[in-house]
Amino acid sequence: MRLSRYFLPTLKEPPREAEIVSHRLMLRAGMIRQESAGIYSWLPLGHKVMRKIERIVREEQDRAGFVEMLMPTIQPADLWRASGRYEDYGKEMLRICDRHEREMLYGPTNEEMVTDILRVSVRSYRDLPKLVYHIQWKFRDEVRPRFGVMRGREFLMKDAYSFDVDKEAARRSYNRQFVAYLRTFERLGLKAIPMAAESGPIGGDMSHEFIILAETGESAVYCDRALVDMPVPGADIDYEGDLSPIVEAWTARYAATDDKYDAARFAAEVPAERRVTARGIEVGHIFYFGTKYSEPMGALVQTSDGSQVAGEMGSYGIGVSRLVAAIIEASHDEAGIIWPEAVAPFKVGLINLKSGDAATDKACEDLYGRLAKAGIEVLYDDSEERAGAKFTSMDLIGLPWQLIVGPRGLAAGEVEIKQRASGERVTLTPDAAIAKLAGRGNAGNTGI
Ligand code: ATP
Ligand code: MG
Repeated sequence: MRLSRYFLPTLKEPPREAEIVSHRLMLRAGMIRQESAGIYSWLPLGHKVMRKIERIVREEQDRAGFVEMLMPTIQPADLWRASGRYEDYGKEMLRICDRHEREMLYGPTNEEMVTDILRVSVRSYRDLPKLVYHIQWKFRDEVRPRFGVMRGREFLMKDAYSFDVDKEAARRSYNRQFVAYLRTFERLGLKAIPMAAESGPIGGDMSHEFIILAETGESAVYCDRALVDMPVPGADIDYEGDLSPIVEAWTARYAATDDKYDAARFAAEVPAERRVTARGIEVGHIFYFGTKYSEPMGALVQTSDGSQVAGEMGSYGIGVSRLVAAIIEASHDEAGIIWPEAVAPFKVGLINLKSGDAATDKACEDLYGRLAKAGIEVLYDDSEERAGAKFTSMDLIGLPWQLIVGPRGLAAGEVEIKQRASGERVTLTPDAAIAKLAGRGNAGNTGI
């Protein structure tokens, strides 16, 4: 992509309302634009990152045996009356009236709709488990939308749902998501720690929030440092096999957010040198809620002994749009964003140090064409800006590699490559530069 044809409205100064670094950087890098409190347009660069995150989320959901579908954003109020949540949800729900005076709402989540879909078509334990997900916009009229897309009102969520015949089977479905989340966040370049979360009236141990540690996180968290270094299952993990040893290993060590925090247990179970007290950002939540919706909504299945029972269900959310900001919180420096390769909007930023100089333009065109041919995504800064300004904006938007081409280097048969994360620069021939950029792994795209 040529910068001259792209739409990248970068800002020199971030608007004053941006309180946290990811919000400032997203605005400065021209990734988003606020349209109204907590509601954003996703400009091309932001949109590209969000799509890459979505793709990794999707690949890991598919791998875990969940099937993609798509439910609408607008739902009828009656569905929510059937579950008893229409009144309970309160002001966070955006209620809409259509032209026939029918009460509708913009979905804040989809448990009711999924339950309704499954109840009419799933009859027998033989049809189970049913494991589905979708990636769809949600609306929650948050009291305090803030921190940009981190806590928006309209946001993109991956929400998955499982429907099983009994609790034991429901636990197997829960474990699938647990492992899928470990893999998803690792592929996104994040260290997300599953932490025991509120399980509501159902109780039990099947509610975990996946939290990344960051100073700007909204919740206080407490965990055992051993979790930070724990290895994540590889792509060859067998989701049809027994996943409980993995889940047990990850849940055997102490980790809790403030609502579940127990100071005495934390002190007793974690040696002082391994106690981590930090702040965290919730990027996902997995939750077993039993028959909370299936019972009132009559989603029944026949068991092997012929009796009818309400389906045992769970729901599993990932904040896809929140992740764009969360990744920036975890990966930036003073100069700007540092994208992990797997979600970078482009892998390489090609910088022409002297646009208008025939030899430099020609060399850049040639490199641009060859990189594209090698299947590498390049953003080519072909603008007339000064070299200094080009460096600044390339650092700001955080592409993993910069390929720097100027007349002086070319005269010596050389170009420069800079790695954004380390700042390390190497000088090499154009051929060697292409080989180096093409040779780097594409781990994020193929699964690690
Ligand atoms: P929170 O406690 O942050 O409000 P929640 O418990 O309401 O989150 P869930 O209903 O479990 O969240 O939603 C699943 C995921 O969706 C969350 O883990 C989070 O990543 C994301 N999410 C929730 N609310 C928002 C929001 N207002 N803006 C962006 N992402 C959100
Ligand atoms: Mg919430």
